[in-house]
Amino acid sequence: MNAKEALPRYFRVLDEKELPYYMICKGVPVRSSLDSETYLLWEEHAELVEKVRSIRVPSPVAETNLLDLKIELARRMLNPCRLCERKCNVNRLDGEAGYCRVKESKVSSKFVHWGEEPELVPSYTIFFSRCTFECVFCQNWDISQRDTGQYISTDDLANSVERMLGGVRNVNWVGGDPTPNLVYILEVLKSCNANIPQVWNSNMYLTEDAMALLDCITDVYLADFKYGNDKCAGRLSRITRYFEVVSRNHAIANKQAGIVLRHLVLPGHIECCTKPIMDWIAENLDTSRIRVNVMDQYRPEYKARDFERLEKRLSHKEFLQAYRYAEGLGLNII
Ligand code: SF4
Repeated sequence: MNAKEALPRYFRVLDEKELPYYMICKGVPVRSSLDSETYLLWEEHAELVEKVRSIRVPSPVAETNLLDLKIELARRMLNPCRLCERKCNVNRLDGEAGYCRVKESKVSSKFVHWGEEPELVPSYTIFFSRCTFECVFCQNWDISQRDTGQYISTDDLANSVERMLGGVRNVNWVGGDPTPNLVYILEVLKSCNANIPQVWNSNMYLTEDAMALLDCITDVYLADFKYGNDKCAGRLSRITRYFEVVSRNHAIANKQAGIVLRHLVLPGHIECCTKPIMDWIAENLDTSRIRVNVMDQYRPEYKARDFERLEKRLSHKEFLQAYRYAEGLGLNII
């Protein structure tokens, strides 16, 4: 199955036959006052998101619209912060920082990326500082574990996205991880009017509520699936409940949009990680909507040399074993 068959909506947006989801959201009016109680806003959110899926002809921008509602709900999730499943007990509205150490959103770099999967390039990739994980082998540790970026106003970033129209196939929100920056990203989209699909490039450790806010915002998930068990996740990324959370979110993403799923094969982790992940995908997801990238580019970065089996690059033999296993399950491999 080729990319066009797996990600039909994304290609329809690229062919200008449909609008990206976030543009449709702007034309969907909200009845409730945004001061309403949170449970009422969630009820209306659920109702409106269902409506968006069936809209083919977009309406003009409504004064208070579904994107405004998503921004309001995302803001309410900052105190205490529960954008990701770490659920830190901090008030980010008051400038406190949790595990990810994000206070204001900082962009480390933004550029047209030619190194992503073929169906995604060229991709306007926006890298945020900091992450909700601390992977000992992080290939982007200089961005994910440090405050390298600078704050850019939402209007300025929206302008920079609009200038990319015609030159890129998508906007690719990444880090670190984009999750701690959800409010900021939605605010950029509020200021933006470019018919460009939105790619959520993430470790997928979001809460269910954060996933709900991405529904009808994300056109394609570029979703990591790193570990096949919680023991490896705890040891290598200092994270708990990894498999439960990340598998749940892949199942949710699978219903919302197309997925380009990435699995970086780790040396010595074929039996404990690669195989259980591939088995789970084959058994639990609608694989006709997923492209799977079995990645061979592991290299020992950051603290990896301190960890057994991670001190060397992946051997070709191990990669072939991982690739053939995924292939044998009939997955749609890139
Ligand atoms: S996004 Fe950051 S502050 Fe919020 S729950 Fe996750 S790690 Fe904690």
